[in-house]
Amino acid sequence: MFTVARDFSFSYGHRLYRYEGKCRRLHGHNAEVRVEIAVDKLNEQDMALDFASLKETVGKWIDEQLDHRVFLAKDDPLAQTLLDAGEPVVVVDGNPTAERLAALIYDYVRSRGLNVARVDFWETKNCRATYFEQ
Ligand SMILES: [Zn+2]
Repeated sequence: MFTVARDFSFSYGHRLYRYEGKCRRLHGHNAEVRVEIAVDKLNEQDMALDFASLKETVGKWIDEQLDHRVFLAKDDPLAQTLLDAGEPVVVVDGNPTAERLAALIYDYVRSRGLNVARVDFWETKNCRATYFEQ
């Protein structure tokens, strides 16, 4: 088994709905994301996956769909308000926690046919959530 990983970064806003801590208020983060791909065998170039293709598929999607967006729970009333104002809100099932955002990215990478092993998501440099399947 081989794994390769590529790191990405993006900025986003969110708030946690039905939450009592200070993250209930709308605020932003500069996220760091590590996408790890696993393969059993190397390709003809002795690569698990070309890093450039990971940048092209996942990096492009992050830049175009996640960067500088606001992530809100689908039942958060602020979501519709911002959508009505023309803001590109990313609506999330459940709260837009680091855990949920790691899973959202994992699901996208898998949907692209890549054998994603795990996604690590740093909300801050000291706080990381990871999503993987067993
Ligand atoms: Zn936060």
